[in-house]
Amino acid sequence: MAVHAHPDDESSKGAATMARYAAEGVDVLVVTCTGGERGDVLNPHYPPIEGGAEAMREIRRAEMATAAKALGVRHQWLGFVDSGLPEGDPVPPLPEGCFALAPLEVASAPLVEAVRAFRPHVVTTYDPSGGYPHPDHVMCHRVSVEAFETAGDPERYRDRGEPWQPLKLYYNHGFSMARMRAMHEALAAAGRESPFGDWIESREAREIPERTVTTQIECAEHFPARDDALRAHATQIDPHGFFFAIPRDVEAATWPYEDYELAVSHVPTTLPEDDLFAGIRPEGA
Ligand SMILES: [Zn+2]
Repeated sequence: MAVHAHPDDESSKGAATMARYAAEGVDVLVVTCTGGERGDVLNPHYPPIEGGAEAMREIRRAEMATAAKALGVRHQWLGFVDSGLPEGDPVPPLPEGCFALAPLEVASAPLVEAVRAFRPHVVTTYDPSGGYPHPDHVMCHRVSVEAFETAGDPERYRDRGEPWQPLKLYYNHGFSMARMRAMHEALAAAGRESPFGDWIESREAREIPERTVTTQIECAEHFPARDDALRAHATQIDPHGFFFAIPRDVEAATWPYEDYELAVSHVPTTLPEDDLFAGIRPEGA
């Protein structure tokens, strides 16, 4: 089960991993906390949308369905309303009724129910910083940890189904500095322009501590499915923009993985890992 804040996050964080596991016969479910209805159109090639948040919600629902199909995964909405990315100085308050303002138990209950219904062995989410400073990403982390910790407890969320304890919890690190630096250097070595220079500088300037990568999933074979899923989110992803700036041959040769941090494990495992199911399914299965 991959828990994400908005539709499109599943396609930019761990998408090829999910496509790989789905192709191998693993039942993969993406759970999206919010409808992404406060998102702006980020693709400069996309025509203006009329009808406000309501129209945006419908468009993004259709985009999400196409992306899930491209990855070969199932998908479920939790039904919360996007908190939007507050910008300005001072930062404005979050809108009433949004996901990030919901009390933790209210925000976590539908996810606990989803965990108990789907019964995942592995759950992926974001690290405590959200991986990206959007209030819904931080909230996504919080509800994922809460659901992971409580879904197996019969005394908690009693009206939300039969207890089920997932075995491993991971944080996605698709944008690890190690990957960015490796890609930046490979592009420079190939005499190509790198889109990562500014990114690396701004990350270094903000002194964001680097998280540990414990687990790398080889999934280059499924980068095309990831790309199809990204393009499905046409309001959000510019097909000529950042996500498509790396030549795919350079990417596959330099970093054919997606990176994760094992946050909690209830099974014995040895780090580093090359499989999210290490310790759960028999070796080589
Ligand atoms: Zn997001």
